[in-house]
Amino acid sequence: MQIAIVGGGIGDLTAALTLLQRGHEVSVYEQTETLGEIGAGLQLSANGSCILINLGLSDRLNPVICEAACKEVRVWSTGATRKLFDLGADPRNRFGAPYWFFQRGDLHRVLREAVIAERTDAIHMGKQAVRMGQTDNGIEVQFEQGDHAEAEILIGADGVHSVIRGELFGSPKAHFMGLIACRGLIDMEHLPEEMRRPVGLNWVGPCGHVVTYPLGNGSILNFVGIVEDKEWRDESWSTKGAYSDLAARLPDWHDHIHTMIKNITQPFKWALVGRDPLPRWSGGRATLLGDACHPSLPFLAQGANMALEDAVVLARCLDLLEADAVSALELYQDLRLARTNKVVLGSLINAHRFHNPILADAATAEDYLEHEWEPEKVKLRYDWLFEYDATTIPLVVSAA
Ligand SMILES: Cc1cc2nc3c(=O)[nH]c(=O)nc-3n(C[C@H](O)[C@H](O)[C@H](O)COP(=O)(O)OP(=O)(O)OC[C@H]3O[C@@H](n4cnc5c(N)ncnc54)[C@H](O)[C@@H]3O)c2cc1C
Repeated sequence: MQIAIVGGGIGDLTAALTLLQRGHEVSVYEQTETLGEIGAGLQLSANGSCILINLGLSDRLNPVICEAACKEVRVWSTGATRKLFDLGADPRNRFGAPYWFFQRGDLHRVLREAVIAERTDAIHMGKQAVRMGQTDNGIEVQFEQGDHAEAEILIGADGVHSVIRGELFGSPKAHFMGLIACRGLIDMEHLPEEMRRPVGLNWVGPCGHVVTYPLGNGSILNFVGIVEDKEWRDESWSTKGAYSDLAARLPDWHDHIHTMIKNITQPFKWALVGRDPLPRWSGGRATLLGDACHPSLPFLAQGANMALEDAVVLARCLDLLEADAVSALELYQDLRLARTNKVVLGSLINAHRFHNPILADAATAEDYLEHEWEPEKVKLRYDWLFEYDATTIPLVVSAA
C-alpha cells in the first residue's frame, strides 16, 4: 500500500519503520528542513521499549540507552523519600521488557537511520502539509511549498497542532494548561557525590514538581521542572530560560533542587498546551497518530509511548484488513481510543497529585506521600500501562 505520513517525529518514524518492514511503500513529509530532536530526555516504559525491540533496534539502541535502579518520589522541602517503583530487572521480569531513558535526539537518529535503511528516499524534508483531500480511491496532501503528494492512506502524525486533525475534524485552538516546563541537562560530574545516584526522581510540591533522571551512560542528568504560570504562553521547545527565573519559580525548595538548577548547561522553558480528547480519529482514508489525536500532559511519561503503540496497532490493523483500508483505520481508532483517553485523564489527575497544597506543610506532606504512593495504589496507576504489548494484543474491540 502507498502510505503518506505527515510529520517526522518519534511516533511518526516508528510508524514509518513498522509499515516499511511490512512491505508498504511509505513516504514521510516533515515540515522542518533538518530532521532532529531537542536536547532533552525521554522515558520509555516496557510498553514502548518492547516495540523498539520488536522492530529489531536493540543493537542500535544499546549504546544510547540508560537504565536506572528505581524511581522515587521526594517531598519538595524536606527531601523525604518514598520508592515509586523498581527499575532494572523488575520491569523485564514483570512486564517482559525494560524501562529505558534516552536523549530524544539519540532515539530519533536511530529511528531515522532505520527508516532510511529500509527505503533511502522515504523521508522528505521541508514539506509543510496545509490541506488534504480524498476520493474513494486515494488521498492527496498539499504542501505550503506548492507541490502535493498522493497515496492510498494518509497518517497525520503532525503533533499537537496537527493540520490533518483540523482538515478531518475542525481545529479549535489548543488550550494553554497554565503550566510551564523548565528543562535542561546537567553534567553529573558537577554534582556532589550524594546526588549522582542512578535513580529517577519526582520531587512533588504545593504548586510545582521536578522530574530528574540519568541519561547516556549515567554521565548526564535530565531536569524538568513544571511550575504553574497563568501568563507565559510561548510553546517553542527552544526558548532559552534564565537560571534566576527558574530558581525564583521554585523558592524554598530543597538544596538539591537549587544545586541542580545552578548546574544546568542551558535552561529552556515552554508552555504546556492540551486539547480535549476526540471521539474519533479516522475519516475515510486518513487517520491520526500520537499527539495529533491524543496530546496529554507529560505526567505519566506516556505521550511517546502511546505514539509508538499507535504505530504498531495501526500497522497490524492494515495487515488484518488489507483489502479494506477504510475499515482498517476505523478498527485502529476503536482499539486505541479508550486507552489513550485514559492516559490523557490519568496525566491530568497526576497534575493534581504532584501539585498539592497539602505538601506545603512538612508534617502533612509525609503522610500524603505515604498515602498517595502506597504500593497497591502505584500498581493500579501504572501496571495497566506497562503490561500492554501492542505487538500481540488481540485486534478485537472490547465492549467495556
Ligand atoms: C516536558 C515533556 C516531557 C515528556 N516526556 C515524555 C516521556 O518521558 N515519555 C513519553 O512517552 N512522552 C513524553 N512526552 C511526550 C512526547 O514528547 C510526545 O507525546 C511525543 O513527542 C509525540 O510524538 P509525535 O510523533 O506524535 O509528535 P511530535 O514529536 O510533536 O512530532 C510531530 C512532527 O510533525 C511535524 N509537523 C508538524 N506540523 C506539520 C505539518 N503541517 N507538515 C509537516 N510536518 C509537520 C513537526 O515538525 C514534528 O517533527 C513529554 C512531553 C513533554 C512536553
